[in-house]
Amino acid sequence: MSLPNHPPPLPIKRSAPQDHALELRNKIAHIATTLGLERIGFAPLTPFERGAKALEDWLDKEYHGDMKYMADHPFRHDPAQLLPNAKTIISVAMSYAGHAHDDRGRTRLHGRVAHYARGRDYHRVLKAKLYALGKEIQELTKHEIQVRPCVDTAPILEHEAAALAGVGFISKSTLTLIPGLGTYVVLGELLIDIELPPSKPIEPRCGECKACLDACPTNAFIAANVLDARKCISYLTIEYDGVIPRELRPKFDNMIFGCDICQQVCPYNTAPQPRPAANEFKPFERFSNPALADILLHGSAAHKRFVSDSALRRASRNKLARNAAIALGNSSDTRAIGPLLEGLELHEDPIVRGHIVWALGELGGKRAQHQLLKLEKTEKDSFVLEEVKHALSRHAPA
Ligand code: SF4
Ligand code: SF4
Repeated sequence: MSLPNHPPPLPIKRSAPQDHALELRNKIAHIATTLGLERIGFAPLTPFERGAKALEDWLDKEYHGDMKYMADHPFRHDPAQLLPNAKTIISVAMSYAGHAHDDRGRTRLHGRVAHYARGRDYHRVLKAKLYALGKEIQELTKHEIQVRPCVDTAPILEHEAAALAGVGFISKSTLTLIPGLGTYVVLGELLIDIELPPSKPIEPRCGECKACLDACPTNAFIAANVLDARKCISYLTIEYDGVIPRELRPKFDNMIFGCDICQQVCPYNTAPQPRPAANEFKPFERFSNPALADILLHGSAAHKRFVSDSALRRASRNKLARNAAIALGNSSDTRAIGPLLEGLELHEDPIVRGHIVWALGELGGKRAQHQLLKLEKTEKDSFVLEEVKHALSRHAPA
């Protein structure tokens, strides 16, 4: 895609002499800083050989779960195919850490949203900055240029791009770790048809540490750098629509959208360099201590308001209701039973209903049991019925 409102095309030497290219690269890096992009790096647009091999192994073992789009797109490891005549991939990063999260008033009846998703949708924030960067580069070169901004939406291996462009390194937790910023970062790429000198990659610096691997509540790491997404709470709460394996539900605790545990324990995140926090990622009040009962009982208009302008737009109303039901089941608080019974009245979707039934079984008590016994006689859906039987068996007299 070429940028709108560009000046008339002039013949351009796509391979500028080295000193000019270096000067241009430095100017681009400076502009990026003024736009609030905290890190930037440059890599030649060649196929991602290491990343392609790792992706193939990962897909072969089916660790991607239902993320079929990971397997479907042939461009994923060859970003050059995303833009004709593309020469360079510019990788950028912004940190979303730095804003204190207001946990006051949180109880077991409140849910937790992953740190990255608490403010404005980073896809929009970063894409706007990449478009602005492309426009500035065009003004700088006074030539028509072709660029393509990508923020998790185009099929590109973003962590691989960031590593090749020297923005950070791929850590044992599979996330990009940027010295000085840690892993609480979002990444974007600008493909461009100008050849620019590459940045120097950063050697991995995890060393002997394996805190993230040990801390994962679901043992989702098969090994360093290898994640079985099918066990990862982030994948299960955000991407996965189906039935959450019963043995994993208690591990969700009160997480309703994503999980930060492997990042919370990383020493690079506990001692970040002092720096101003990006205003764009200031957390929305409504994600501070969201009441699980409200999320479970949202109608479609309330759901739209709740997720608007945030990354939570990726989760349907049913998915958030399913996740809230699990969190209520984990609350050990019998005040959750009322909203769960209301949820059974409100929701028709068997996936949501089945998880509500499970939660009632976890909390127990006469009210819950009475409803479950009624449901055992009337329920038509086989999954929900199976959950009813399981929930009743948890409290069967010895
Ligand atoms: S996000 Fe949570 S569940 Fe997923 S790997 Fe990290 S700690 Fe494990
Ligand atoms: S916790 Fe340790 S091993 Fe994991 S990403 Fe951080 S430094 Fe690397």
